[in-house]
Amino acid sequence: MNYLTRKNGATPMSLKRIAVIDHDKCYPDKCNWLCQRKCPVNRSGSECITQNTIKVKAQIAEELCTGCGICPRICPFGAITIINLDVDFGEPIHSYGVNAFRLHKLPIPQKGKVTGIVGRNGTGKTTAIGILAGNIIPNMGKYENKTENYNALLEKFRGKELYSVFSEIANKKHPVSIKPQMVEKIARTYQGNVKQLLMHVNAEKTPFVVRELGLEKIAERELQHLSGGELQKVALAACALKEAKTYFIDEPSSYLDIRERLRAAGFIRGLVTDERSVLAVEHDLVLLDYLSDNVHMMFGQPSVFGVVSSVHPTREGINQYLEGYAKDENYRFREKPITFLDKSARDIKKQIPLLTWPAFDVKQGTFTLHADAGTIHTNQSIGILGPNGIGKTTFVKTLAGILTPEQGKLPQKIPVAYKPQYVEATPNTTVEEFLHTRMSTASREAKHLLVEPLHLQPLYEKQLDTLSGGELQRVHIAAALGSDASLILLDEPSAMLDVEQRLQVAKTIRNIVDVQEKTVLVVDHDLMFMDYVSDRLLLFEGEPTLNGKVHGPLGMEEGMNGLLKQLGISVRRDQSTKRPRVNKPGSVKDTEQKKAGDYYYTKD
Ligand code: ADP
Ligand code: ADP
Ligand code: SF4
Ligand code: SF4
Repeated sequence: MNYLTRKNGATPMSLKRIAVIDHDKCYPDKCNWLCQRKCPVNRSGSECITQNTIKVKAQIAEELCTGCGICPRICPFGAITIINLDVDFGEPIHSYGVNAFRLHKLPIPQKGKVTGIVGRNGTGKTTAIGILAGNIIPNMGKYENKTENYNALLEKFRGKELYSVFSEIANKKHPVSIKPQMVEKIARTYQGNVKQLLMHVNAEKTPFVVRELGLEKIAERELQHLSGGELQKVALAACALKEAKTYFIDEPSSYLDIRERLRAAGFIRGLVTDERSVLAVEHDLVLLDYLSDNVHMMFGQPSVFGVVSSVHPTREGINQYLEGYAKDENYRFREKPITFLDKSARDIKKQIPLLTWPAFDVKQGTFTLHADAGTIHTNQSIGILGPNGIGKTTFVKTLAGILTPEQGKLPQKIPVAYKPQYVEATPNTTVEEFLHTRMSTASREAKHLLVEPLHLQPLYEKQLDTLSGGELQRVHIAAALGSDASLILLDEPSAMLDVEQRLQVAKTIRNIVDVQEKTVLVVDHDLMFMDYVSDRLLLFEGEPTLNGKVHGPLGMEEGMNGLLKQLGISVRRDQSTKRPRVNKPGSVKDTEQKKAGDYYYTKD
């Protein structure tokens, strides 16, 4: 259960019960129907918990359940989730079955607009896209009736906004194009080179998208040989080339650096016309803000239920998301708001120098990196900013003593823990075994700061190679932060995490830095994440794959100003949440800030 549920039957305000049973975790032969034997409603003679008629699994009658909270607590395998809702979201638009995930409401594509979707993984984004793409006919929660056509649905939505969308879908007059979340799959399913793939979709327009996304250099390359960022751009190009009325773009930012993210955003915005719409799911909130005209929030409990909020202007939608409260639905989905503090220099007196390096040059193949002299301190979290291929990993490996500089010598070696960009799963190892080895010297306090906030306990029994990308990421972040190294490097910790998990990881890093007196270096391309997590910044510039130069550590203002100047954008802070927002190019604020050299505006 989570904080949305009430405890021990104290539910006079609850309007509605949601009971979900994970069949993969329900073993009645091992527990001898414990939940059924202990349920007070069953004990009083009613059939609240029964046996599912198809499988030998528990089944809960939601209309009889009082939400007392006993069964989720006593089930030995954690198979049951009971939610007591104080808000009635009405009947679902779709349910996968009895005691299974259900989705309430849908995002609505708006012609001529990019509509962003912000929310947690597991709350039904793929389901919603499947419905709007015509791949799933929504059953309005009546999963017993296999729905074969849209007739009943159209009747239900007559006169409502969704009517015209469903009417077009029913008549096959709403072609859609989808950029999937997992771009790696394209390389596995398609044989051939980039140009062949794109020409196959739309030969006439291929040269245009190749130019717009800068794909010229990789046009002849086989898909199997592309990096994650290159695959992302190819996937976007292929999606755009298909003629459609609605374009669904699921997580366009993965594997892209900030410059590439902004370029992709401009490209996606270019897809809309008076007749076309874009729906985009994105967890990088600065990018979502930059990309969208308006926003739907998606909230609920992952794998249990999801709700799509009404649509809001982008600023308001993102601010409500950070606030954790959906106003129109009158529903608080997070206990506390996420707040961004104005950055001020932290108390440098408490910080002891950890590592000082002289200016050095280091080579990797034909690539050369030059670093200015610098010092890092304890109790510091240092953001590392720069494009892909500019030498960030090379720099950190040099600090760790793995690479030796050509010129300049590092005075000492210090123990370094490293979470690489691409995390791997050790075979035949459970999460608990892995963390036990990697965090063997961690104090109780450090474990406390990691295990609960990163939701690791429910993963303990699982094998590493069965985890989702986001789960594996969290395990590796904990292993690095819980190690005994005094310098910890996290390379792209936000990858594969949803917005909520990113904010949680950012907080966890801050806690480890502040309480455990560690130094953490964070490489990431999510600007809001970096703004939240960093005390100081190392800024990389140069020509990717040829040469790079590192400056710093710099103060936040100086570092961000340097980065944003490189990118040609300016950033202001939102007045109510203090989150960073990219100014519209050429707007009054953009012009004023650039003229004053204030690319990173720290005040309101
Ligand atoms: P998201 O895209 O937001 O991660 P999805 O729409 O993929 O969410 O899935 C939401 C939940 O619905 C999943 O956690 C899963 O438990 C459930 N689900 C998805 N597809 C099915 C299915 N075919 N049958 C049963 N449950 C499903
Ligand atoms: P970043 O971390 O900023 O993406 P890296 O430090 O990984 O950049 O790489 C910088 C450049 O050095 C890249 O162009 C990469 O191709 C090159 N490089 C990295 N490792 C090697 C190596 N072992 N041999 C040859 N070139 C390398
Ligand atoms: Fe046993 Fe849990 Fe299944 Fe109930 S839900 S039958 S307690 S395993
Ligand atoms: Fe029974 Fe509902 Fe209580 Fe579970 S939460 S024990 S199903 S009344």
